[in-house]
Amino acid sequence: MAKQLKRWFAACMLVLTWVSAAAYAQETMPPVYYHVDKTGNQSVEQLLDKEPSYWNVLPSDGASFGYTSDVYWFYFKLPAADYDRMIRIDYPLLDRIDAYFVSGETIIDRVKAGDSFEFDQRRVNSRNFIFPIDTHDEVKVYLRVETTSSMRMPLSVWQPSDLIGSEQALNTATAMYFGLLLCMIIYNLFSYTVTRDKRFAIYSAYIVAIGLLLAGLDGTGYQYLWPWSEWIQYKSIALFGSIVFVFASLVASQILQTETRAPKLHKGLQGIMIVAGLLFLASLILPYELMISAVLVVAILASSFLIFTGFTLWQQGLAYARIYTLALSVLLLAIIINAIGYLGFFESFFIQRYMIMIGSAIEIMLLSLVLAIRFNEDRRERLAAEQRLNSRLEVKVKQRTAELEAVMRKLKEMNQRLEVKSNEDRLTKLYNRGVLDEDLPLEVRRARRTGYDIAVVMIDIDHFKKVNDNLGHQAGDEVLVELARLLRVNFRRAGDRIYRYGGEEFVILMPGAQELGCHDKVLTVTDVIRAHSFKTERGEVKITVSVGMALLNSMPGHASSKQLLEAADNALYQAKNAGRDQIRIARSLNDVSEKP
Ligand code: GH3
Ligand code: MG
Ligand code: MG
Repeated sequence: MAKQLKRWFAACMLVLTWVSAAAYAQETMPPVYYHVDKTGNQSVEQLLDKEPSYWNVLPSDGASFGYTSDVYWFYFKLPAADYDRMIRIDYPLLDRIDAYFVSGETIIDRVKAGDSFEFDQRRVNSRNFIFPIDTHDEVKVYLRVETTSSMRMPLSVWQPSDLIGSEQALNTATAMYFGLLLCMIIYNLFSYTVTRDKRFAIYSAYIVAIGLLLAGLDGTGYQYLWPWSEWIQYKSIALFGSIVFVFASLVASQILQTETRAPKLHKGLQGIMIVAGLLFLASLILPYELMISAVLVVAILASSFLIFTGFTLWQQGLAYARIYTLALSVLLLAIIINAIGYLGFFESFFIQRYMIMIGSAIEIMLLSLVLAIRFNEDRRERLAAEQRLNSRLEVKVKQRTAELEAVMRKLKEMNQRLEVKSNEDRLTKLYNRGVLDEDLPLEVRRARRTGYDIAVVMIDIDHFKKVNDNLGHQAGDEVLVELARLLRVNFRRAGDRIYRYGGEEFVILMPGAQELGCHDKVLTVTDVIRAHSFKTERGEVKITVSVGMALLNSMPGHASSKQLLEAADNALYQAKNAGRDQIRIARSLNDVSEKP
């Protein structure tokens, strides 16, 4: 960075050296004299025959007398020459110049100039004051000067061809300067349109203000921007100077984030903004002579405060505050040198005229750099914040997903348990009738598909009411539970399923059963039941059961699962009718037999 800056600096100096060499290569000036007219009433005629001792000698590099309401007379004598000559006053802010050209004792020409006259009235269209000399003879030149701005007289005499070269060099340099400002304004406005970051807009406004101020100081403004308004020209430096400081403090507070980082300094900046704003308004109304000193004093104080602010934040570790301070230092140094010069403390009109241009050009470029860095840093901060937020969100989503999964698992378990519950008979833990209603049609369809048979065995306890009556309902329940256990133990072939069909009625589905085997099995089980002692809390009980069976393949081809069940029920009914404790097999829908 430092290396780049040095290179830039070197390049600027090179251009300046060239401009100043090209611009000020005039012939040597004869000695110039001046005289202060306190009354302001002296005429040129009164001065014509004054002794040389009446006059003071003007220093060779021009003169600066500061702000004064006095009228100044300047006088010099040019020898005869065989070429055309022109006088240039390299200071565009003089209000009124009366030039008198005297040959012998006669006034051969009178010219009025100054920025209190319309720009169009100038003999030569230049922001500087240029007077052609109409004679090749020896000529005495008297200049009467009155101005509300700083009184200065950077005089030079030229041959026209040299003057064209000089003007061109100065104009080129000036055009480069304003071109740079224009680029920066457009660039920052583009940045604003794209990013909607108002700092870019404020910065553009700041550059516009600086541009107007410099155009006023340089005379370019009067030449090109407001040639129709002597009023603007008259007030330009006070108006634009105060506006510059309104925006300078705004830019500083934006770039350095003083509101959050240094609230006290922020208040100071706001103070400058208000004072500068008030100066601007006052300049609109009050006379320039009154305002200019105030503006200059505020300029010096405000500049020092801005520098101090930048420096403080730099010390606080704000990286770009360093570049900001550097940028401002360059400009403010230029302004201070200029202001001191205007107040009449020293004189070098080249520095006087171009110092602020150089300083502001460097400052504007550096500040633009700072703005770009700031914008980039903001963006990076925003991105980082977004990433932090995203990762936090991700963690949260993960947590929530895990929680949700746990809940889902639990729900599934509960559902399974619920399903078992709803499929289960509370007392015997066998499948209930609902399950049979679902299973039977499926099993029938499967049997039809595979060609295997399926048996429906319906078992009903004989005279169970008596068990209840004799031993109580509780004992009856115990018998039912024990019978269920017996059934479970005995019908354990794969595919066999046992259901509690009603109070003391059970159904067994035996897929793939053959009639004979099935009958044998049931016979065995009824024997087991008959032989079994059912232990209850009220003593032991013996029971028998009646059984009705139906096999699908014994039914007509179109028989439904419902008809199959009815057939088994019918067979059971027959078994009961035949005296209980026996088995009946359905032959068809209504026909029942005792044996297979
Ligand atoms: P049978 O079948 O031989 O004709 O006579 P039963 O007395 O067994 O027939 P019924 O259908 O008339 O009576 C069935 C009895 O079963 C009636 C009821 O008291 C009893 N019962 C039904 N469910 C339960 C139960 O869950 N627990 C108890 N303890 N008894 C039940
Ligand atoms: Mg019964
Ligand atoms: Mg019954």
